[in-house]
Amino acid sequence: MGWNETPYQPGDGEHRASAKTADPIRDLESLSPLLLNPDLRSVVADSFSSEKWDIVEEIIAAAERLRDTTRWDDEELLRRLGCRVRSFDDFRAVELDRLQNCSAFLSLVNELTDVVGPVDQQREVVRVCVDLLEDRTAASAVDLRLLLVLEADQWSAAESMRLGEISRAARLVRSLAGATRSTERRTGAHPFAGAAAVHLSTPRIDLYVAREVAVLGVDVDDRITAHLGSCSACRDAVQTRAVQLRSMT
Ligand SMILES: [Zn+2]
Repeated sequence: MGWNETPYQPGDGEHRASAKTADPIRDLESLSPLLLNPDLRSVVADSFSSEKWDIVEEIIAAAERLRDTTRWDDEELLRRLGCRVRSFDDFRAVELDRLQNCSAFLSLVNELTDVVGPVDQQREVVRVCVDLLEDRTAASAVDLRLLLVLEADQWSAAESMRLGEISRAARLVRSLAGATRSTERRTGAHPFAGAAAVHLSTPRIDLYVAREVAVLGVDVDDRITAHLGSCSACRDAVQTRAVQLRSMT
């Protein structure tokens, strides 16, 4: 079989994994030899269709950007993304729509790491995104993006992320995914029911009150300030906590 041919799969069409159900981590894993060995890229480029190779290059660029952001080396990044290093031949079989899904996933992770503050938060974003895919909370990169931006009660997981509340954002995504699965649609129900009306966690409020801007990240700190201007629940929580902290010292 030629390198560019799609392998035959029984039940083609109906049961074949599409981008909707594809696992971008496994597909990235298949590309790991290309990520780890730049010299290999020019050797194998001709074995891909140009359309496919364009996406492979996008994936490589996105992975390199994420490596620089997180300050992990290539191997550590792949490990943190949940990839085992695979053999030389696997990557040629990855289909175009799966490459696109893989590229979309890395782009999303890059966008989200740009939003949060210091490197420990950026690494946390990588971990959370991988977890949400690996535990099938999100079926694809597109699904994950949708779950992040979907608003319920005028709030979204992406908004939590922007305030540096990364694990809370993941909880919201899980809650939303569970709700949409049971209702089979992306709106209605109360996916954030049980989520606190206060959007900031106590540890983050404490950091904010203590003016630990470097820990929060300058942009996150600015966003929290802006958020407090428009959200009375969080403003009250911060004021209450400031009083508590003052009385403790
Ligand atoms: Zn709030």
